[in-house]
Amino acid sequence: MTQTEVRVRFAPSPTGKLHIGGARTAIYNWAFAKAMGGRFILRIEDTDPERSTEENTQVILRAMRWMGLDWDEGPEVGGPCGPYTQMQRGDIYASALEKLKAEGKVYPCFCTKEELDAKRQAAGESYSGYDRTCRDLDPASARERIAAGEPHVWRLKVPADRGAIEFEDAVYGPMSFPAEVMDDLVLVRSDGSPTYNFAVVCDDSSMGITHVIRGDDHLSNTPRQILVYEALGRPQPVFAHLSMILGPDNKKLSKRHGATSVEEYRDAGILPDALVNFLALLGWSLDGETTLIPPDVLCREFSLDRITKKDAVFDEAKLDWMNGQYIQRMGAAAWVQAARPWLVEAGATERDIAEQPLWFERAYPLVAERLTRLDQIPEKLGYLFWGPNVQLDERSVGKVLKKEGARADEALRAAREVLADTTIAWQCDPLQDAVRALCEPLGMKPKSMFQPIRVAVCGNMVSPPLFESIELLSREDVLARIDATLDAAF
Ligand code: GLU
Repeated sequence: MTQTEVRVRFAPSPTGKLHIGGARTAIYNWAFAKAMGGRFILRIEDTDPERSTEENTQVILRAMRWMGLDWDEGPEVGGPCGPYTQMQRGDIYASALEKLKAEGKVYPCFCTKEELDAKRQAAGESYSGYDRTCRDLDPASARERIAAGEPHVWRLKVPADRGAIEFEDAVYGPMSFPAEVMDDLVLVRSDGSPTYNFAVVCDDSSMGITHVIRGDDHLSNTPRQILVYEALGRPQPVFAHLSMILGPDNKKLSKRHGATSVEEYRDAGILPDALVNFLALLGWSLDGETTLIPPDVLCREFSLDRITKKDAVFDEAKLDWMNGQYIQRMGAAAWVQAARPWLVEAGATERDIAEQPLWFERAYPLVAERLTRLDQIPEKLGYLFWGPNVQLDERSVGKVLKKEGARADEALRAAREVLADTTIAWQCDPLQDAVRALCEPLGMKPKSMFQPIRVAVCGNMVSPPLFESIELLSREDVLARIDATLDAAF
């Protein structure tokens, strides 16, 4: 590990799924590492035993992999600074505490929760943190009380002469926190477990983290962590705090606004690259204009100085638009792979997809410009898999097939005859020309001819292109649909 190498980390707590805000933090760290030729580390912060689960860890790792955020060090890949799960790093925190004890930079505090609560209540509004009752206990008697098994925490002895805590945030600029508001924070709880602020500093410093890029909900922790760096005598990283993500009502994004986890977007058919692109732009911009920034460009161009401190608004319509753009650009083969679960939901079989991928690729141009999410596939392409069991949309039956004077049955019968003619190549253009040629002798407008066929084949008067669809289906299938429709509607 060289000191000049950029090392960043994403440090999720496995207390739930990977949320949009966490995902954005992960993306920024990942892209920054790539842009700087550095390393991206994933660390699981599972020190809250009540809320952390292995299942959540797995969900987070899966979401990261799905987004393509590969980590250079961390769970499953290992690395020189492991283990990368806090619960397995107890020795590291214990030895850091021993060092601080030896240097007289921490002290044991025996105040009970009840005592502390009572003090807090008595002080009311004017409470300004722990009153340092135990800071000046006689060391010998403190040792005796510990030896006698009296419960205690370990607090940081913040130097009495420590002035304001200042640092330069890479996003927010110069920050200053008055020392008075920093009480002697607890580093190790009475059960021996490290607090978040202690574990994080031990980990960031022992992992050689050079830049801490994280949500601004941690901004108030940063001065406390700086005090811990100082006590440990370790160099501080650069801090970059990311502004909040708001819902369309300008309130902090939450469940109330709908989907908030990466998984939910994956299950709705958002493409990983589109989600990464969209989240990257929630607080960062390439040039203030470009909206389509695929991951490889992001990894080349990402920089901290283009992160804004303005809160970002999560606009789902924009995400849908962006996803549509990625769908249009991804190409047929990639689409078939990504669309698999929804093609199956639409009625295809896994086996058909595996054995006849080219047939499915031909369905791509039918919908490439009509999808904003892949979960629209069953609704838009389900008809391809019906065979003779056409599912006629009631409204379309009324407005097209049964419309007064429309002669839809006549149109269908005439079209059936043409489509049954095996001398006409089963291809979009010749079929369309042949059907169109029926209009004049029958005295029908093309629309009156084509719409009933559309309803018979696709079940709906609104559908992907008709003759392209017909070409994709077999002659037998199309004729069976027309027969079934004639039976059902006339
Ligand atoms: N584990 C913390 C969280 O999930 C992140 C800590 C940090 O980035 O410093 O909020």
